[in-house]
Amino acid sequence: MLLEVRHLHKAFGGNRAVNDVSFSLQAGELLALIGPNGAGKSTTFNLVNGQIAPDSGSITLDGVSLMGRQPHELWHIGVSRTFQMAQTFGSLTVAENVQMALLSANGQSLSPWQRATHYRRADALQLLEQVQLDTQAHRPCNALAYGDVKRLELAMALANEPRLLLMDEPTAGMAPDERHALMSLTRRLVNQRGVAVLFTEHSMDVVFEHADRVLVMARGALIAQGTPAHVQADPHVQAVYFGSGKTFGGSTTGSQP
Ligand code: ADP
Ligand code: MG
Repeated sequence: MLLEVRHLHKAFGGNRAVNDVSFSLQAGELLALIGPNGAGKSTTFNLVNGQIAPDSGSITLDGVSLMGRQPHELWHIGVSRTFQMAQTFGSLTVAENVQMALLSANGQSLSPWQRATHYRRADALQLLEQVQLDTQAHRPCNALAYGDVKRLELAMALANEPRLLLMDEPTAGMAPDERHALMSLTRRLVNQRGVAVLFTEHSMDVVFEHADRVLVMARGALIAQGTPAHVQADPHVQAVYFGSGKTFGGSTTGSQP
């Protein structure tokens, strides 16, 4: 296993946001984290990405503890993330955005008034080709359609050749066909590169179609984990999402209620 999360606990005051959560993730695997609002998904995600520190428990990548490391340190040891709201430099071109990420992966950073126009241009274009944005390389980022910005963000997240990619609601704000295109692309790149992906997601159709495995949280605890088919059939999961009597399937698979 690449990522090992053991007995994570995090409380805010008396509120046990994450209560004894353990899971693991192997290279090349797409693991979804789902659950109703307030379940503890974001807190779990932010514990793994170093934004917040756990009260207790352990998080290791290939046996090395990730705890107490800042997001930029994590990035340098091969942990990348994409954000719910895409974060790019709007006035730079698409290629320059990737070049900035490549520079940063190399431990360098530019002053805001410099542009990385010549830095590893060929590598940047190759990354853009992988996310099918090479024809847009010269355009300013703020001229891109939203779905293209999300793909650019993916290319930037791959610039440090991550072993672990964390994606916070990667398809938020996208139309259904765009969502599936982005996740299929992610799937392909993950397989090619052997990257492990942990993602939170609201859209059930995305989770059930694209995840290898699903973690389901409710009230801070992990209540189920397994293949999409396994968790979909789990009565406890169905009760948490729909109350008794309803199931995933047919028209109810659209998005989280
Ligand atoms: P989810 O992402 O599944 O909706 P969260 O992890 O955001 O759930 O929240 C889990 C619980 O922890 C909720 O009860 C929420 O109100 C609480 N919580 C989350 N972040 C904080 C915080 N920074 N301070 C206080 N309470 C928080
Ligand atoms: Mg959340």
